[in-house]
Amino acid sequence: MNGYWGKLLIADLSKGKLSDEPLNEKYAREFLGSTGLAARYLYDMVDEKTDPLGPDNPLILMPGLLNGTSGPSVSRWGGVTKSPYTGHYGDANCGAFFGADLKNTGYDGIILKGQSAKPVYIYIRDGVAELKGAGSLWGKDTYKTQEEIKKECGDNRTQIACIGPASENLALYGNIMSEHGHCLGRAGLGCVMGSKKVKAIAVRGKMKLPMQDPEKFREAARQAMEEVKESFLSQIMHETGTAGWVDSAIPYGDGPTKYYTAGTMEEATNISGVTMAEKYQTGHTACFGCPIRCRKVLQLKEGKYTYESIEGPEYETLIALGAMMGLDLDMSSAVHLNELCNSYGFDTISGGASAGYAFYLYELGVISDKDTGGLKLTWGNIDAAIELIHLLGKNQGFGAVLAGGTKRMAQKYGRPIGEAAQTKGLEIPMHDPRAFHSMGLVYATAPRGADHNKSDGYQVDSGTGHPDLGLNAGDRWADDKAEMVEKSQNFRALTDSLGMCHYAQIPFTLLLGMINASTGWDTDMDKLLKAGERIFQLQRALSCKLGITAKDDVLPEFVMRPIPDSGQEGHVPNMEKMLPEYYALRDWDSATGKPSKKRLESLGMPEIAASIGAK
Ligand code: SF4
Repeated sequence: MNGYWGKLLIADLSKGKLSDEPLNEKYAREFLGSTGLAARYLYDMVDEKTDPLGPDNPLILMPGLLNGTSGPSVSRWGGVTKSPYTGHYGDANCGAFFGADLKNTGYDGIILKGQSAKPVYIYIRDGVAELKGAGSLWGKDTYKTQEEIKKECGDNRTQIACIGPASENLALYGNIMSEHGHCLGRAGLGCVMGSKKVKAIAVRGKMKLPMQDPEKFREAARQAMEEVKESFLSQIMHETGTAGWVDSAIPYGDGPTKYYTAGTMEEATNISGVTMAEKYQTGHTACFGCPIRCRKVLQLKEGKYTYESIEGPEYETLIALGAMMGLDLDMSSAVHLNELCNSYGFDTISGGASAGYAFYLYELGVISDKDTGGLKLTWGNIDAAIELIHLLGKNQGFGAVLAGGTKRMAQKYGRPIGEAAQTKGLEIPMHDPRAFHSMGLVYATAPRGADHNKSDGYQVDSGTGHPDLGLNAGDRWADDKAEMVEKSQNFRALTDSLGMCHYAQIPFTLLLGMINASTGWDTDMDKLLKAGERIFQLQRALSCKLGITAKDDVLPEFVMRPIPDSGQEGHVPNMEKMLPEYYALRDWDSATGKPSKKRLESLGMPEIAASIGAK
């Protein structure tokens, strides 16, 4: 199999045994890699009865199809599981160097099954895998864990994916973390790893991937590298990183503030991407093989928390841990809050939104000091927010309430469920659907729950479209977004499976050149986009298999309340119009939400259609 190694590592943790299994070539051809291929494996392994924190729930980690090659910005790898947080399909993808090294160890992925009695970590080096004791690492934060494993392995370039105390303590949205703040986040994959007592996976790979035509690959990759370097989006991302969106979020009303009750903070110049670049930046870092280098290295000499050299927070984190709790953050506090979440290892979006909800309930008088353990959760209380994040990371006291997320909090305090800012149990990310109506559709229909990364909704309507896909900027408040959302979801399902970063604008001819030269396939863009659709529909079918129906495709009432005095100008998405149009395009049943038999069969998945009883 060119472009693949043809084998998976199976870790049976209950038996303490590692073994190799041949890669299913049909699955690889149809679902490519990362979250696409992993979801296809997961489909066969879980059902509605599977306990997400029990031994039967697998955790599957896979590199993207192009990981580890010389292609530009193709380093993203993914993981899937039955989410302990939402109870249905959960996936995540992540950058850094782990995916490249995993691919170059000679494996196409790892399936973790069962549960170990004692803490362990898995070490894979050039085709040889070992299970090692991790008793001395248990309880350590994600930075210390990586440092100690690198020391033990005697190779500083070993790449590590690990969990911190949050996932050890089974915080339901615990992350798997790599390097400095790269997260396999959101759906609680870290929590599942914690339930298996796997502290980390360490990889060091220098093997040469078999390719059909290495010379042709190198040339396509070289040209793609030049294109990515030159693209306008690359330049912007290099200059300001994702934090640059803070400056845009204000005029658009896109940065949810005081738990969705305000469109945006009045100003956020202290934490904007431009301020970060001008005042604090000392350099950049990048994921493997990425010329964009969007990640910032900062030096903070002033403020309560000082850092000599530290990676800066991303946009989502800046808003979730700031505006959401009504905090007027300075850069020092923003970086500190981000560091806490990364070292404990939990999701900043769900964590920030849950903390924001706690502030909202406290201000409303629904909860009091008695509930919070004495913390005064008044809008803007940064010290209380920091203490709250510590408790959340330890899954202790009032932090354990937050670790359950907004839906469980609404239930616990007898609040209307529509007050919980989530879809299918997963909190809405920091792009307000009232600022970009397409995001309402994106959140309502993404397979894992509210998810900004499974489409390009707000990017398209703010000017970063995909002319190649026929996706160009439109009116952000129009409600004719079904086709744009469907196309961009398919495209993102494809790029995630290839391991390609959202910010890399690789011309389709060069992308095809790399894929065909690596695998020996004779594919074209239509076939690849069809693979993207196949992956999206498969993930949807898996959600349905695990209990999701059409009634779950809703936005919470709380984010449908108009806010007139901000960049949102009182607009709310018309879901009654958009959802039926989207369902028609997807060919989903209006009552069950299942993809039709005809559509699944046309995508080559008759067995999936039969399994969910599609009509
Ligand atoms: S643009 Fe940023 S996130 Fe994307 S691959 Fe490059 S460094 Fe990583």
